[in-house]
Amino acid sequence: SQPVIEIRNLNVGYGLGDQGVRAVRDVNLTLHRGEVLGLAGESGSGKSTLAYGMTRLLAPPGVITGGEVIYHPEQGDPYDVLSLSDTQLRQFRWNETAIVFQGAMNSLNPVHKISTQLTDVLKAHEPKMSETQRNARAREMLKLVGIAPDRMDAYPHQLSGGMRQRVMIGMALILQPQVVIMDEPTTALDVVMQRQILGQLIELRERLGFSVIFITHDLSLLVEFSNRIAIMYGGRIVEEAPASAIYRDALHPYSKGLLGSFPALKGPRRELSGIPGSPPDLKGMPTGCSFHPRCPKAFEPCSSQIPVLEQKDSRSVACWLVND
Ligand code: SF4
Ligand code: MG
Repeated sequence: SQPVIEIRNLNVGYGLGDQGVRAVRDVNLTLHRGEVLGLAGESGSGKSTLAYGMTRLLAPPGVITGGEVIYHPEQGDPYDVLSLSDTQLRQFRWNETAIVFQGAMNSLNPVHKISTQLTDVLKAHEPKMSETQRNARAREMLKLVGIAPDRMDAYPHQLSGGMRQRVMIGMALILQPQVVIMDEPTTALDVVMQRQILGQLIELRERLGFSVIFITHDLSLLVEFSNRIAIMYGGRIVEEAPASAIYRDALHPYSKGLLGSFPALKGPRRELSGIPGSPPDLKGMPTGCSFHPRCPKAFEPCSSQIPVLEQKDSRSVACWLVND
């Protein structure tokens, strides 16, 4: 199927020169039309930085040090998001690609009714819409995400966490973007609620036809809800494959470790039992394969040579065990 976003050789750092660290390294990734692409990895692996970098939402000292993010609009020619002017970028952000931030449900303005917060987005981005049209669209969006019309005039504190999360999703969808990026959208919610909201989002995607990049450390959610999964470690993508292939037959030792930390259907979540140690510090990234100090399979080339992501059939992996 057709690409919507093609990330090419993206590099993102924090700070410049000797003080700088590289947080996203040579990432190549394509989001196809209509798909849900999952991005997994422990915290600090570069997932959020990738999302913020590709939409140019990085706050200083975050800086893009190289690459392209080619966006394919529904009509017209593809363009590089990294070379848009500020005005074009504002347009791109809500109309073409919307983000639901980490902890978003706590970012609603406490002093405004949720209906006002939705219509304000329309006011800012669709100035030609009448007030009646804005109200109608806001009502329709809230209905789509499962919020009853009588809750339109509630204030955020009058809604449960799950409902606030739904409001944020409604807000992201209100300008009918082609792409919705969700960064750990549901971590503050209990597992049952997370599944319910994600299930609903996938249903909406089928009806409205947008694509999703879904970022989480919880690989079990990705296996359930995404079509394809990319796994990051130390700022790089180390494996990318259809969700079913990751689940049945992950090739990278790190992916296997993440799968080993699958929460049981019942009972408490386990730590990354398959992987001792913790993710590398960006300041002191190990040489060679950055996973080698934790890898149970590490062998001779691993500590000195960086394995590149090699494609085989519908999947790619960056590991000396698999590549030759
Ligand atoms: Fe482990 Fe070596 Fe593969 Fe890295 S390249 S994941 S250290 S086996
Ligand atoms: Mg994050």
